[in-house]
Amino acid sequence: MNTIICRHCDLVSERPALTKGYVAKCSRCQHILYKAKTANAKKILALAITALLLAIPAFSFSLVSVHLLGVTEQTNLLQGALLLVDFAPIVALVVIFCAVVAPVLLTVCMCFNSACVVLNRRPRLLNPSLKLTSLLIHWSMLEVYIVSFMVALFKLNSYADIYYDNGLLFLVALLIINMSMICEYSNAYFWDFLTNE
Ligand SMILES: [Zn+2]
Repeated sequence: MNTIICRHCDLVSERPALTKGYVAKCSRCQHILYKAKTANAKKILALAITALLLAIPAFSFSLVSVHLLGVTEQTNLLQGALLLVDFAPIVALVVIFCAVVAPVLLTVCMCFNSACVVLNRRPRLLNPSLKLTSLLIHWSMLEVYIVSFMVALFKLNSYADIYYDNGLLFLVALLIINMSMICEYSNAYFWDFLTNE
């Protein structure tokens, strides 16, 4: 019997076969168990490869130049996080994990998962990769980083001259590609592919 466990109340129930557009709800707590959504693996693969290519300039190019008291300083995402290490190491670690490590690892996993579907292969690594994907999807917070970064820039605007650099364009493009990839992804679809040979 094909079963599913509710994430909210741990009720184990038989997994119903749904047609596209329908949603299965838990009979006890009424939370959504899963949505009948078919993912386009080729589209996810294309988005993941684009995201991996964009990540290189987004994380290494300068995001902004700050001109203050005759001195101009350029900074990128990694330098900004590393500057925090000395006086707020936990915050620095969370920023590096949520804004760099998790999005990159998630993209690599999605690239691997969708490549398996496109090539119709089920290697042993697909099972841990799918588990890692469902874990990392909650920790990839590139959008939170960009929003807090923009708020900090608006605050700093009254004290210094701010010049936006190319890295920021790549970072915003990476965010858009990343969000589209996550929206297109369906956990249930990929698990179905792995279990139904
Ligand atoms: Zn439930």
